[in-house]
Amino acid sequence: MESRRKFLEKITASAFAIPAMTRPGQLFSNTKTPYEGPVLKVAIMGLGSYGTRVAEAMKTCERAKLVGVISGTPSKITDWQAKYGIPEKNCYNYQNFDAIRDNPDIDAVYVITPNGLHKDQVIRVAKAGKHAICEKPMAINAKEGKEMVEACKAAGVKLLVGYRMHFEPNTVEVIRMRKARELGQIMFFQGLSGFTIGDPSQWRLNKKLAGGGAMMDIGIYSVNGARYMVGEEPIWVTAQETKTDPVKFKPGVDETIQFQFGFPSGAVVSCLSTYSMNNLDRFYLNGREGFVEMQPSTGYGPIKGRTHKGPLTEPIVTHQTLQMDEMAALIFDGKQPVVPVDGEEGLKDLVIIDAIYKAVKTGKKIKLGS
Ligand code: NAD
Repeated sequence: MESRRKFLEKITASAFAIPAMTRPGQLFSNTKTPYEGPVLKVAIMGLGSYGTRVAEAMKTCERAKLVGVISGTPSKITDWQAKYGIPEKNCYNYQNFDAIRDNPDIDAVYVITPNGLHKDQVIRVAKAGKHAICEKPMAINAKEGKEMVEACKAAGVKLLVGYRMHFEPNTVEVIRMRKARELGQIMFFQGLSGFTIGDPSQWRLNKKLAGGGAMMDIGIYSVNGARYMVGEEPIWVTAQETKTDPVKFKPGVDETIQFQFGFPSGAVVSCLSTYSMNNLDRFYLNGREGFVEMQPSTGYGPIKGRTHKGPLTEPIVTHQTLQMDEMAALIFDGKQPVVPVDGEEGLKDLVIIDAIYKAVKTGKKIKLGS
């Protein structure tokens, strides 16, 4: 198992060495010949802003193809049909999409709706016998996340989370450097994740649909990033909340949270999650013998960074194109990404986010992993 993982990592690392002009899909075929294997036929649920970004990115996928839609807005369905050549028989709404079970032309459903809807929608997808790809956060708490993992297991389908950074070449290079101990023993990580949110009536500021505030939406990048940058699971969490606008950020909708983790090795993490500041997309990892600084670190890119050895120079890719090609490889070939993107991985972040909210509420240090 370990040697297979090493082998896959080696292939991935060498694939990333291909110059930036290479088409993203080709990076992972390990060959220049056109891809002729199975293609993952995907329906997107939720035709909003991120759904549109994914659909556009999928135009250049080799192993995945957008073939269906699920939406509550008939005019959007018609637009997408025209734009992406989607046949009528692959179009569903939120009432009738369970019928997707009888559609052999759809393999997977990518759920890109507000966070509070993910659990029920993913479980319906699983019960319809289709693989579920779900946007982050996978759910609004760990209890929901567990139900999703169990439902997908019971249905014998895969549950994958849209952690696009787990495939991003510069991020993968940093993880390689850390694993190769090029930074020495990891001592500290700082993650800054935030932006200034606009329209106060949007679902992201509605506790029921969002599950919280900035932490659920953007802070999760620092939570997840802390884990893959340090390469350990936290054993304790502390957190503090600041609210400057209680009208816009109602109870249960966090504006700014600072949080800290401790890891078994003694490494510590300090992060900021906010809906009240722009230009906040930065990771800093410090080891005894080196450092990595990334800014932007999780935005759509180009991801930029430098280490004690010089700038990060891995290829610039469209994250969602690479993600969907890699997810197809994961589903069809059992290929393992450098950092997992499965439901268990999504659940780990939710357990930590639950602990962050508990730490804010109680003012106490919350122990994890026992
Ligand atoms: P959005 O508001 O632009 O789109 C949401 C879509 O869901 C809309 O088409 C809307 O019509 C539909 N919808 C269905 N039921 C709804 C309801 N009851 N209330 C409101 N909308 C409803 O949001 P988005 O930015 O596309 O975000 C969707 C999901 O994608 C979220 O989970 C978000 O966290 C995630 N996301 C991920 C990334 C990433 O980089 N991985 C980026 C942006 C968003």
